Amino acid sequence: MKLTKKLSDAFNEQIKAEMWSSNLYLSMAVYFMDMGLDGCAHWMKKQSEEELEHAYKLIDYSMKRGGKVVIDHIDAIHEKWENPQAVFEHVYSHECHVSELIDKLMDLAIEENDKATQEFLRWFIIEQVEEEETVQGILDKFNIFGVHGLYSINHDLGKR
Ligand code: MG
Repeated sequence: MKLTKKLSDAFNEQIKAEMWSSNLYLSMAVYFMDMGLDGCAHWMKKQSEEELEHAYKLIDYSMKRGGKVVIDHIDAIHEKWENPQAVFEHVYSHECHVSELIDKLMDLAIEENDKATQEFLRWFIIEQVEEEETVQGILDKFNIFGVHGLYSINHDLGKR
């Protein structure tokens, strides 16, 4: 049973969103490299790589299920950040947004009565819980220690 056209199109939208996320985090990595915060930059590069892997997972699955994969153009990143904490606040709100997108994809898989896709998407749903939790943990440190915590946050994130 092939992916329905609706699901195949929705997968393409999600592939695009994951690739945009990858570029967003790469832009954040550059922001941190500019500031000399190598640990934060390293964390963002890893984050960027992970988002690309998410895109690959979606591409592979759609192909396997006879979907029509389209690699579309990715919108430029225009975001600017006032300080390191604002960057991580943006990561958090962005990941919450991605969680909503995945939830909507799951809603569609249920609507289309595609059980295999529902199973496939469960991994992404759990992954989003982890993404939100990890960034929340970093933000907690900022909230407790403020800019004074930046040195140790940078050091810790370099170990990812
Ligand atoms: Mg992702």
